[in-house]
Amino acid sequence: MSDTEAENFDVVIRDGQLIDGTGGPARALDVAISGERIAAIAAPADSGHWWGKLEIDASDRVLAPGFIDVHTHDDNAVLRDPAMAAKISQGVTTVVVGNCGISLAPITDIDPPPPLNLLGGREYFQFATMAAYLAAVTDTRPSVNVAALVGHSTLRAGAMDDLKRGATGDEIAAMREKLAASLDAGAIGLSTGLYYKTAAAADMEEVIALAEILSDRGGIYTTHMRDEANHIIDSLTETQTTAQRANVPVVVSHHKCSQPANWGRSPETLAFIEEARKTTTMGLDAYPYAAGSTVLDPDWVHDRIRIMITKSEPHPEASGRDIADIAKDWGCSLKEAAVKLSPAGAIYFQMDEADVQRILAYPPTMIGSDGLPHDEHPHPRLWGTFPRVLGHYSRDEGLFDLETAVHKMTGLSAQTFGLKDRGVVREGAFADLVVFNPATVKDLATFEKPLQQSAGIDYVLVNGTMSLMLGNLCPDRAGQVVRNH
Ligand SMILES: [Zn+2]
Repeated sequence: MSDTEAENFDVVIRDGQLIDGTGGPARALDVAISGERIAAIAAPADSGHWWGKLEIDASDRVLAPGFIDVHTHDDNAVLRDPAMAAKISQGVTTVVVGNCGISLAPITDIDPPPPLNLLGGREYFQFATMAAYLAAVTDTRPSVNVAALVGHSTLRAGAMDDLKRGATGDEIAAMREKLAASLDAGAIGLSTGLYYKTAAAADMEEVIALAEILSDRGGIYTTHMRDEANHIIDSLTETQTTAQRANVPVVVSHHKCSQPANWGRSPETLAFIEEARKTTTMGLDAYPYAAGSTVLDPDWVHDRIRIMITKSEPHPEASGRDIADIAKDWGCSLKEAAVKLSPAGAIYFQMDEADVQRILAYPPTMIGSDGLPHDEHPHPRLWGTFPRVLGHYSRDEGLFDLETAVHKMTGLSAQTFGLKDRGVVREGAFADLVVFNPATVKDLATFEKPLQQSAGIDYVLVNGTMSLMLGNLCPDRAGQVVRNH
């Protein structure tokens, strides 16, 4: 009888509830994998003749596309620590690196100024070309897939002797050339961090002159905007104008309404984005916490918000402490303490929870961790972002259903960033998959104890390779460079 003839696969995942990443409802479907790809999907009644070299029982579990972390600073982490435990343990199978204007390539021979030093010190900036960086990723074969953005601040640092001014015509031409070569080598777009001192002197025309290179290459533009506080609407306007004039899709990075004076303004900013989306391809990402984290800058330190140190080169013992306590111990002002602690990183408790929830719940919002992997006492988003959205915000707070939560971290992300055959479970797609327990999935990393693995993530497969099993990392790593062409 033909229906009893065995069909052989590498992996068969049975009896789970499949959430396929499109936003559609969960269904009881089994999935079979051959090599790197999903080979078959069928109801349990029709998969009895499947045989897997490896069989996974997903009963009482959800099977979903592996999560795509659209906002990371993992450029160096995927090379230095390719097991990528912080990400694989959350169910993340792809990271987008090079955000906020900061990328490890293309640049060499530099003492990285903040915020480029978020990626590490001088010894790690070794890639004169994006092709060399992507080749190193391929050789290292980290556990997660890597899609790379080119950082505007990195381009500036490579082309200019003084970052405190706008680029000249010749410097813009040099940056355009490097950007084009990077895109041809496989980078998927350009990021800016106009908020930072390495790029703040760049005007919109400089950014447009670069972003327009993306247009006929299918690249995407992402931006940590010039101002996420009092002038946020001006910055959103600049972002939309840049995207329109360069004729490129744009993503507003880690959207937030920053600083107490702007708490409660997310209805205004989301209304702007909703209106902009009628004429501009504009997306946004967010992380599920009311605190941000980046370098410590004495100019950003004040007593209206809590600030916690994540690392300090001269004072490593300060990691995990509030700067207010440190300043009290030292008998100095907050700013003086910040100067003494620098170079350093910090967590800024700068957002309002109601804004965070409103932004997360906005349908076009994708999830990105913005985790900082080189901090000694990192923001908990590094280890907790994706389980926190699934557990805390979807299941416990009821902010959106589980299918929506998954869509925000898979299908929507792949579609926005042009990651072909990723972010969905369908026949022929890459077998990037996660099996999790919807009843127990939960972030355990906290601001006090940030290095905690999340609960409830059982299995993770990357390109068909088992990468996390019963919550434990597997030795095989199968990440690839993901290109959008
Ligand atoms: Zn940023």
